[in-house]
Amino acid sequence: MPTQPPRYRPPGWKPAKPWERPGLFVKDQRKRGRAGMRERAQVLAEEPLCRLCLGKGLEVASDVVDHILPLAWGGSDDRSNKQGLCDPCHDAKSKAERKLARQRKIEVFD
Ligand SMILES: [Zn+2]
Repeated sequence: MPTQPPRYRPPGWKPAKPWERPGLFVKDQRKRGRAGMRERAQVLAEEPLCRLCLGKGLEVASDVVDHILPLAWGGSDDRSNKQGLCDPCHDAKSKAERKLARQRKIEVFD
């Protein structure tokens, strides 16, 4: 039993393959695999101390590589957009970013 009326499709129209649809498999331009591992190790070697803690006068080892401007907000995956953070700082920054996104203060994808 059909539940929707038939839709008009131009001649030659085909449904998009799942891997061609944005958001399912292609989320961002993040480096993955060995290239991503190499770059994360390089950033952590260059910035052994958490950047935000250094700003507060603390010396805490950095645990993760953070995108200063998140990829989902149009940030690049270049070295200039990356910083080393400790886990608590990264969690707090991510939480604040999610909160802003929920309040739709930030336009996702520029
Ligand atoms: Zn920190």
